[in-house]
Amino acid sequence: MGATVIDGKKFAAGVREQVAAHVTKLKSENGITPGLAVVLVGEDPASQVYVRSKGKQTVEVGMNSYEHRLDADTSEADLLALIAKLNNDPDVHGILVQLPLPAHLDSDLVINSIDPAKDVDGFHISNVGLLGTGQKSMVPCTPLGCLMMLREHHGSLSGLSAVVVGRSNIVGKPMAQLLLGDSCTVTIAHSRTKDLPEVVRQADIVVAAVGRPEMVTGDWIKPGATVIDVGINRIEGAEGKARLVGDCHYESCAAVAGAITPVPGGVGPMTIACLLANTLTACCRANDLAEPEGLTA
Ligand code: NDP
Repeated sequence: MGATVIDGKKFAAGVREQVAAHVTKLKSENGITPGLAVVLVGEDPASQVYVRSKGKQTVEVGMNSYEHRLDADTSEADLLALIAKLNNDPDVHGILVQLPLPAHLDSDLVINSIDPAKDVDGFHISNVGLLGTGQKSMVPCTPLGCLMMLREHHGSLSGLSAVVVGRSNIVGKPMAQLLLGDSCTVTIAHSRTKDLPEVVRQADIVVAAVGRPEMVTGDWIKPGATVIDVGINRIEGAEGKARLVGDCHYESCAAVAGAITPVPGGVGPMTIACLLANTLTACCRANDLAEPEGLTA
């Protein structure tokens, strides 16, 4: 029997609907409109697409979107001054600085200058520490989206064994922390892991966040396991046309897994949906209002 396909596109639409309903309520009952500021430095084409998409979806759920597009040669002092202004603006509840930044800017310094309460990407060192110690934090969007889909599919994750392949600060490490928070037994694998296929074969839940096209194949997967494919890789397909594939070889993994996220249409759509959810959460916290249920870790 083939795997259940976890439809991230549909799931993300549901999250956006929930966010929109809560925003409508905030506006009518409290006179508050959540606001998200996105800062883009330079003209990286992929970043421009992401920023456009974030702005569009922010407006669609009824929030205010503030876009700040800065020249590629913007000085660090000017960028930090803009962030300080946004930190002090009560209409801005979430701040996102689109990465990667041009090489002359220190990403860590810039990210850590954001007010942690407005850090909707969850990359500020305070939020990393809060998540690591199991305290209320802003949670990175992509791992949060993966967690939501896993909770929906499994109900409780308690006691399941999870292998996260990849140890980046934006996906692998926070994903592992979230799974640990839900009482999984977690292994983090990376490029130095010995006998990776055997490690992955132990897992009830596999999260692949590697950036290597179709690296994880069906013979690595324990029968019935849930496979969450974070990877987004553009490869050359038939007739030289580019196509997107994940870090997992979809057909062979789907033949063995119990459930799997496709690429595209799996984790990808959840990332922006969780950004909107985080902005709403930040707005509720800033105003001492109850947080929406099911939209945070
Ligand atoms: P990074 O490049 O920052 O990290 C990749 C990780 O994979 C590293 O920890 C690296 O190990 C590990 N790795 C690399 N090669 C191997 C290998 N052969 N075997 C085992 N582990 C390996 O990537 P990100 O975490 O930023 O992103 C991962 C993927 O997820 C990418 O495809 C990216 O495009 C995608 N992505 C998707 C998002 C979405 O919205 N769906 C959001 C963010 C990312 P080591 O540390 O030892 O070098």
